[in-house]
Amino acid sequence: MGLFATGKEGKRIFYKTSAEIELMRNANLVVSKTLAHVASMLKPGVTGEEIDKAAEEFIGDHGGRPAFKGYHGFPASLCVSYNDIVVHGIPSKREFKEDDIVSVDCGVELEGFYGDAAFTFAFQMVEEPTLELLRVTYASLYLGIEQAVHGKRIGDIASAIQEYCERKHSYGVVRDLVGHGVGRSLHEDPEVPNYGKRGKGPLLLEGLVLAIEPMINLGKKDVVQADDGWTIHTRDRTPSAHFEHSVVVKKNKADILSDHSFLLEEIKNNPNLQEILPKS
Ligand code: MG
Ligand code: MG
Repeated sequence: MGLFATGKEGKRIFYKTSAEIELMRNANLVVSKTLAHVASMLKPGVTGEEIDKAAEEFIGDHGGRPAFKGYHGFPASLCVSYNDIVVHGIPSKREFKEDDIVSVDCGVELEGFYGDAAFTFAFQMVEEPTLELLRVTYASLYLGIEQAVHGKRIGDIASAIQEYCERKHSYGVVRDLVGHGVGRSLHEDPEVPNYGKRGKGPLLLEGLVLAIEPMINLGKKDVVQADDGWTIHTRDRTPSAHFEHSVVVKKNKADILSDHSFLLEEIKNNPNLQEILPKS
């Protein structure tokens, strides 16, 4: 789940001990396996409500609590955001179609700590240029993570994502929503925008845990909130992609707590989904 940008980042930052980081790894493992479980279910005709129900049961079976359910009144366990929906889509009875892209965002609280990760799935009939939007957005997540090292600043993560998506690929980088610190709360400081200036913003120190989550539009950057008070869609109704990892800032290389490998394996095994592979 993303956070509305306030621009007042960096007020109350919590650094985690190694014991706390292991608890967060456990929470993120449940998130990662839940996303894989969802990936195994995705096919045309299935609804957001159905995957949400399955995810909620799965999270409970693994000792966790769905972090989004009831969060500021959010009515479901997953955010399910298809096509032009950027984030915070409420799972519905609408059936998935063979040319949908679907961002599934999952948060889990386990033993007092939160895990948060998201992935945008592509059904079998999704074509260019939407596939390229997914490849570029996914690559930008890892470019951001590369910057999440001790001594750098939030702006280094932000500008890495922005430069790749906006300058290199001319996509719309969403400004209104941002990534965030995560820990004993789902949303902690600092904010982690997907746009900004290199060398600016809060300093990154070892033990800081960040949810980095590029939200990138095929068209313009502007977004609109629907009347339900949650759903964020692109103003120009072009498709939007969203990928997220929870990562720990470390000395040489960020430690990624969430693990997409489980869901990537399920995508391989699910003939209804396409792999998001870099263009060779
Ligand atoms: Mg999330
Ligand atoms: Mg998040």
